[in-house]
Amino acid sequence: MDLQQLIRKNIQALKPYSSARDEYTGEAMVFLDANENPFNAPYNRYPDPLQRELKVAISKQKSCEADQIFLGNGSDEPIDLLFRAFCEPGKDNIVTIDPTYGMYQVAADINNIEVRKVKLNDNYGFSAEALLEKTDKHTKLIFVCSPNNPTGNLLDNKELIKLIQTFEGLVILDEAYIDFAPGASLLPKLSHYENLVILQTFSKAWGMAGIRLGMAFANPEIIRVFNKIKYPYNINMLTQQKALELIEQEADKNQWVELLIQERKALEEKLSKLPFVVKVFPSDANFLLVKMYDARGIYDFLVENGIIVRDRSKVVLCDDSLRITVGSPEENQILLDKLNELL
Ligand code: PMP
Repeated sequence: MDLQQLIRKNIQALKPYSSARDEYTGEAMVFLDANENPFNAPYNRYPDPLQRELKVAISKQKSCEADQIFLGNGSDEPIDLLFRAFCEPGKDNIVTIDPTYGMYQVAADINNIEVRKVKLNDNYGFSAEALLEKTDKHTKLIFVCSPNNPTGNLLDNKELIKLIQTFEGLVILDEAYIDFAPGASLLPKLSHYENLVILQTFSKAWGMAGIRLGMAFANPEIIRVFNKIKYPYNINMLTQQKALELIEQEADKNQWVELLIQERKALEEKLSKLPFVVKVFPSDANFLLVKMYDARGIYDFLVENGIIVRDRSKVVLCDDSLRITVGSPEENQILLDKLNELL
């Protein structure tokens, strides 16, 4: 892969915004460089534009290098930046699976990029071959998601690796839900593949959707492209501080994940027994895709009773299906009790 060749011409030529603190990282006696207010410390100061301390903590937690990490305002930020860095509006295209996470399409539409979709097979699996067939010289990115949203299943690692090894552009592997599939991440193999971008997030297993912190892992050359075009202070100070604190308490995350995996199994078993449930699809994530007779009717009934799930029945290959997040044991029981009222 020739990365320079993939980058949009205007981005190659871009002179990025810079601040005095891009270079200066020490503790100065007086900071008079950024027109900040001297009062109301510490919130008066701009945060570290490159989140260096947080990246070191994440690199230890993930066993990777700090310069292989980009942090964004949720993982939706790197998704958008990928389009802006690599896809020429009105000319380039991306390839992805169908169904999958909706933001790839939205980010493509915002950036005026064609999306070529390949339907998953009956078991919600995919073939690298089918995706590669859709590519041409204007295909810059291929997006895959594992475990996939909304189907919940992991994608086959052999097919993923074949895809990464064969495609000349970047493969974006969205691992937002990977903590719920222990041992399945391709992150330990990141350094083998110069065209691989792995997305993860603090929004799911880490329980931090509210602080908006997403991660992209890739070779440092790709990370430099993200850094070149991102907003200067894209991760605020409070988010950086809170994330540092929570990484210290990794044991909590591990406990939550363990409990949620148990609850996923229990909920799957109990939902499968309901007569109006046609099928609960196997899940490697923290949600279940559930096919039902009259999914819309059941959705409306749940909403009327204060329980919100996601109606996916209009999504391709998901007809009559609701996507249900695995909640706390209490929340799951409330859901089951309500559904049992329908019997
Ligand atoms: N990827 C996938 C597959 C998702 O389902 C989501 C959120 N629903 C995201 C990325 C975005 O996560 P965030 O922006 O909160 O990091």
